[in-house]
Amino acid sequence: MNPFLGKQYLVEKKKEPHDLQEGEYREAMVIDGPLIICQRCGERHIKSDVQLPTKRYYCPSCSRYGRITSDHHLCWQESCLVPFQHQIVFPGPLTSFQKAISDRLVKNYQLGRSTLVWSVTGSGKTEMIFETIAAARKKGERVAIVSPRIDVCRELYPRIQQAFQNEDCLLLYGDSEESYRYTHLLVATTHQLLHFYRSFPLIIVDEIDAFPYEGDRQLRYGLQQALAEEGCLIYLSATPSDRLLKEINGTFDIEKMPLRFHQRPLIVPQLCWLEKWRRIDQRKRLRRPLIKVLRRLAEKNFVLVFCPSIPYMEKVAKVVAKELVDYTVSSVSSKDQLREEKVLQARQRHFQILFTTMILERGVTFERVSVVVLGANHQIYTKSALVQIAGRVDRKGAFNHGEVLFFYNQMTPAIRKAIAEIKSMNLLAERWLADDL
Ligand SMILES: [Zn+2]
Repeated sequence: MNPFLGKQYLVEKKKEPHDLQEGEYREAMVIDGPLIICQRCGERHIKSDVQLPTKRYYCPSCSRYGRITSDHHLCWQESCLVPFQHQIVFPGPLTSFQKAISDRLVKNYQLGRSTLVWSVTGSGKTEMIFETIAAARKKGERVAIVSPRIDVCRELYPRIQQAFQNEDCLLLYGDSEESYRYTHLLVATTHQLLHFYRSFPLIIVDEIDAFPYEGDRQLRYGLQQALAEEGCLIYLSATPSDRLLKEINGTFDIEKMPLRFHQRPLIVPQLCWLEKWRRIDQRKRLRRPLIKVLRRLAEKNFVLVFCPSIPYMEKVAKVVAKELVDYTVSSVSSKDQLREEKVLQARQRHFQILFTTMILERGVTFERVSVVVLGANHQIYTKSALVQIAGRVDRKGAFNHGEVLFFYNQMTPAIRKAIAEIKSMNLLAERWLADDL
């Protein structure tokens, strides 16, 4: 069997025609006046910039997926329809609100209409896509469930396997253990979609607003290329960017899901003025308000303290640990060798206070947690980041008085919009619950 079945791959032109696999072909690179356009990643380059001594052209933008030149053809095959009737195994019953969204997703899919599910953090959005996946599989179609983040894919994969137990599902990312094989269910990073062409009538993108997809032209192109003609998209996000909302305006149905699974409202951030937050490592007096808050919060719950940069985090964590000798204080950042171990230890309550950077902004669930954002007015904190960080609190379990505090010394549009969005989702949730009674 062709190992590339169902994906897009490169064939050197000189190998043709004797070495041809069955399938369809197109030029890997197309000339457009002074430009050359790569058909795999969509990037345009000035011809003279990317010309090889052999006079052929290459694309530097997607070389990490294998060298591509104008000496290549891109080859692909139509995916075959293999219908499968799934008995979905749900981890638990859906709430009536989840069910309503789930039904609308199936209906939109049947009408060929794409949907954004704008669903608050902790709402159980994954379960809401299962019926649509089953509907696509019933028709025999291939389904890709993708996310810009590897950790999200790793978390999704066992849940998809659990729900669709009688069918093979492949997990694919840059360094994934398994190599490619043809399956009708694929969980992958958005990067992997550059290896497909018109392969999936249904693509679901989880956390579409996450780095690096948001703002990455190549990944957006890859998604459109991997989608079958007349295919249908489902985007899932707790914090869609203004850019995304503008892009899909008029073409996508937008379904808002304001209720968390446990149906309690989102925690609204409290604002705490801290005039000289940038220098709190230098003077005890300057950090007094923070120390007071940390003591109070740590008595109730585990405390995550978000910092705008690694050097700042290290300095502040050090002085706070010295001052709060009765508490276990640690820090973790993207540069930390022990990153995964520390997150695990934090979950097992080895620390009471953990300083961190944006790496724990999303994707990780801690129970019984409060969060503090230091320098919430720093430019690194977009509206989406602040909503995601606030969303770490009270995600599951019994209510435990988790709090969200933003320390700042200047109001920013991001802070204002984040709080307004949280309040507006809570208002909508209140209305839904009232209507349901
Ligand atoms: Zn390219």
